[in-house]
Parts: sequence; C-alpha cells; structure tokens
Amino acid sequence: MLSQKINDALNTQIKAEFYASYLYLSMSAYCDSIGLTGLAHWMRHQSEEERSHAMKLFEHIQARGGQVVLQSIEKPPADFDSALGVFQQALEHEQSVTRMIHELREQAVKEHDQATEVELQWFVKEQVEEEKTAGDIVARLKMVGDDLTALLMVDGDLGSRE
Ligand code: MG
Repeated sequence: MLSQKINDALNTQIKAEFYASYLYLSMSAYCDSIGLTGLAHWMRHQSEEERSHAMKLFEHIQARGGQVVLQSIEKPPADFDSALGVFQQALEHEQSVTRMIHELREQAVKEHDQATEVELQWFVKEQVEEEKTAGDIVARLKMVGDDLTALLMVDGDLGSRE
C-alpha cells in the first residue's frame, strides 16, 4: 500500500510528465511552423515518450492499490525564439523533472517503500539519458549558429529518429 504522501507525490509527478508531453508537443508545432520538420518530428516523438512516462507512474499507483487523481495541466508556451531556444528550454525542463524524481525517490527511501524506490530507479536512469540527449542537441545547435545549411543538416538528422 502506498502512503498518502507518496501517492500524492506520484500524482504530481504524473502531471509533470503530462506537462512535459504537452510542452514538447507545443515545441513540435513551433518547429514545424518555421519549416524545421525534422526537429518537429523529434519533439513529437519526445512528447509521446513523456506520455508513456506518465502512464508508467499511473500503472504503479494502480498496482499498489493507490488512487490516481489527475490534475490540471498548465498551458505550455506557444512561441519560442529559435530552435536553440526550444532545446535550451527542453533541457531546463528535464533538469527540473530530474530534481522532482530525486526528491520523490528520497521520500520512498525515507518511508522504506522499496517498490516505489525500484520503480523510480528506472526514472533516475532515464533522466540521465534525457538530459544527455537534450544537452547534446543544444551543443550542436550552438555550433550551428547562423549557418542555415548546418541547421538543415541537424534537422535532417533529428528527423530520422525512429
Ligand atoms: Mg519524462
């Protein structure tokens, strides 16, 4: 059985994952609107992945006899200043999600909730990957600078994400 505190924190985390999904979908729309269809494809894929993170936590609450209480999701920004701005913001968002996951895991450790702790270990590893991927793209877009040919190369590359 989940403690009320962990149950509530898991519901808050579900909301954060859905917000990430919403944010990346909005970023995808922006990238598409400026003709960067590869970046748009990548962000759309990322949006789906965040939704699957939310569902993983959703299922954990259910498996543990807790109560899923879905919360309202804020409106994400619709306008961004550049492709680099998009990915910088995505990286910052992932860093804040990482902090939330770590706090949640610390709470599970404190309460000796081993099942939640193990569940969250997956997320701890996943966040390392998410930050690395977003950070690498930020670095590449910084190298691109004002070079449109280079930008289209990065766009083509990200467009090939399966
Ligand atoms: Mg996530």
